[in-house]
Amino acid sequence: MDISYILNELGEDRTAYQQAVAPPIVQTSNFCFDSVAAMRHTLHHESSLPFYTRGVNPTVELLCQKVAALEGTEAALAFASGSAAVAAAVMAQLRAGDHVVCVAKPYSWTAKLLSQLLARFGVSSTFVDGRDPAHFEAARQPTTRLFFLESPNSFTFELQDIRAVAALARAHGILTLIDNSCASPLLQQPIALGADLVIHSATKYLGGHSDAVAGIVCGTRAMMEKIFASEFMTLGGVVSPFNAWLVLRGLRTLPLRMERVTRSTEQVVAYLKAHPLVRRVHYPFDEDHPQHALAKTQMTGAGGQFSVELDTDDLPAVESFCNALRRFLLACSWGGHESLIFPACTLYNSANYATTLPFQLIRFYVGLDEPDALIADLEKGFAALRTHAAVAS
Ligand SMILES: *Cc1c(COP(=O)(O)O)cnc(C)c1O
Repeated sequence: MDISYILNELGEDRTAYQQAVAPPIVQTSNFCFDSVAAMRHTLHHESSLPFYTRGVNPTVELLCQKVAALEGTEAALAFASGSAAVAAAVMAQLRAGDHVVCVAKPYSWTAKLLSQLLARFGVSSTFVDGRDPAHFEAARQPTTRLFFLESPNSFTFELQDIRAVAALARAHGILTLIDNSCASPLLQQPIALGADLVIHSATKYLGGHSDAVAGIVCGTRAMMEKIFASEFMTLGGVVSPFNAWLVLRGLRTLPLRMERVTRSTEQVVAYLKAHPLVRRVHYPFDEDHPQHALAKTQMTGAGGQFSVELDTDDLPAVESFCNALRRFLLACSWGGHESLIFPACTLYNSANYATTLPFQLIRFYVGLDEPDALIADLEKGFAALRTHAAVAS
């Protein structure tokens, strides 16, 4: 199935809606039936037929079909957020006494889920430096049920060798889950590398327009049935039909956006890497990145996120650099049209994130802005940094 077929044709049942080219937003909580027999039948197939929108909704279902096809899985389930998707996918596999091995510094709320929420229910977790698969083996216990990967991972974009970790998991009957938000289904295909479940914050690249929060879990039909019957229906963190529709609309242009974002990012990274006031660039597709060779074997591109450490030991200088930028907005999230910075120094008052990140580190996301305009904006940032340094000295 070519990607354009998935995005333009798969699951589009146009005869069911007056040949409309854009699918309807089936904005209903409820579905009704012609007979008791029909109602009974649907109730007993609630994970595949529309009965109530906390279960199956046709607009949401169309989104699930497309994302499952993009990831090469049988099925998918959509959630109200990426975090809801992570929580449901993880919790569905675990009971008290179980153990999880997770890559160090995953997305902050994934870390909190494992280290705090699930710890309250008797699930323990070990966080490992995921750059060496041997660390997963070393952390493995007889009660380990899950390996949780996020490659590249948040803020510093370290990779895990997905093939090696998934093979290790398989050999011990452990499930491999991966948060693939950062790469998108177009730049990395974890199922083909051996992962069992793939999770996305659809808020990011899949939606792509910074107007909807959503999440998706992809896997086998049996696994989706299992999650549906437990966390999906009980916790009820489902995406609204309208937000599912927004993500569907975003998906139409996913290949164009990924291509543009990747190309622009390469240009911006090249500029920053050559800049004397940049100490370090964290971008897996940079040739000098220590995991560049691995990146090439499991990704076809690194997308629009990277981070940079400025060459200063002065926190106010870092802040003056950030404050001078106009085209890069100061904000969290990423994956939309707008370009962004998230300075690590903003994390320092927060208890929920490891403060192991240097304060000079700034996470960048390059959106759909002209790269030349972004580089001109960065020039302003460096001018402010230099002025600050001159005043300070
Ligand atoms: C944003 C993000 C999430 C959480 O997704 P939400 O849609 O914000 O709940 C999870 N993982 C990664 C890598 C993210 O960037």
